[in-house]
Amino acid sequence: MVTLYDTCKIVIGAKYSIIQDLQRGLIIRVPREVIEYFDCKKRKLLSSHYIEEIETFLLDNELGFITKEPSLFPESGNNFVDFHDIEYFILIYSKYNYKYLARLFNEISKLQIWHFEIRFYDLVSKFKIRKVIKFVEGCGARSLDLFIKYNEKEDLNLYKELIIKHPIINIIVLHSCPLEQCINKNNNLLLTSKIIDSNKHCGIIDINTMMITYDSYRISKKFNSCLYKKIAIDEFGYIKSCPSMQTHYGNICVDNLGSIINNKYFIELYSINKDLISKCKDCEYRFACSDCRAYIENPNDIYSAPLKCGYNPYNGEWEIWDSNPLKKGAIEYYDKLTNGKN
Ligand code: SF4
Ligand code: SF4
Repeated sequence: MVTLYDTCKIVIGAKYSIIQDLQRGLIIRVPREVIEYFDCKKRKLLSSHYIEEIETFLLDNELGFITKEPSLFPESGNNFVDFHDIEYFILIYSKYNYKYLARLFNEISKLQIWHFEIRFYDLVSKFKIRKVIKFVEGCGARSLDLFIKYNEKEDLNLYKELIIKHPIINIIVLHSCPLEQCINKNNNLLLTSKIIDSNKHCGIIDINTMMITYDSYRISKKFNSCLYKKIAIDEFGYIKSCPSMQTHYGNICVDNLGSIINNKYFIELYSINKDLISKCKDCEYRFACSDCRAYIENPNDIYSAPLKCGYNPYNGEWEIWDSNPLKKGAIEYYDKLTNGKN
């Protein structure tokens, strides 16, 4: 009998099922018979030919191992201990927020924060970039992603030096660039032609951007994998669950961040896992995909599916999400709400 490695998880969808290999970051679509193989009652109905084929498939793909005592290898639980007040902090850099940086980082330093993301939508001086990095370093965070508008007058060596000098930097993405290129060997300096000039670009669900790690699997079993303990400051200083959300919990000029982590709505929002979302609850990618609660198919129903997902778990096909006529109303709603931007 083949037993799956603990890092290989079966997820059953309405039409297809997958095995998520959380160690190698792989998603492997598997036929129904593989699921039946792991069900004692159904396995008895499979022919010996099928069983042999399935075991060869699992072993060849290094998804499991042979044992006569599978009960000795129970699946580990999905509980996790999380010591952080905030897992993910997004700051949209703006002239407004710059005025309150010292106050903001004073508040931040009272919290345990794991990861930072700073987005610079407009051109910014190297002095200001360095100043923001120093603030992040001073607050005890573990890593930092920077999205900076490409500046043709700036030498790329500046960004290479920043990465060397500040080990907290996980990646620098230079957006609005004339070309697509990866500069550093370890993929931490990227040039992209994508224009990231507003919060509207976020929320697109794609098979290539799925998160296939042990932590994200365990978080998405219980919580919303995108919004779990996430705080964002939009360009106007509003404190939100993500920069694209309409609801806010106050403004950095007067409110303190500490009170937000116990805010009822903040907790409720990050507790919406995929089992509660229409369509997603039947999808085999539900423990790998990020989800999105800011752009949803029915803006009046917080449990409706993400707007920018083109996957149909009932026929197993991907379509271009914004060409679906059923999404037209929601697309127009968000366009109107954000006045074509943000
Ligand atoms: S909720 Fe949607 S828009 Fe907000 S950060 Fe997540 S994916 Fe992006
Ligand atoms: S249907 Fe839901 S879970 Fe599946 S890929 Fe789309 S957003 Fe993700």
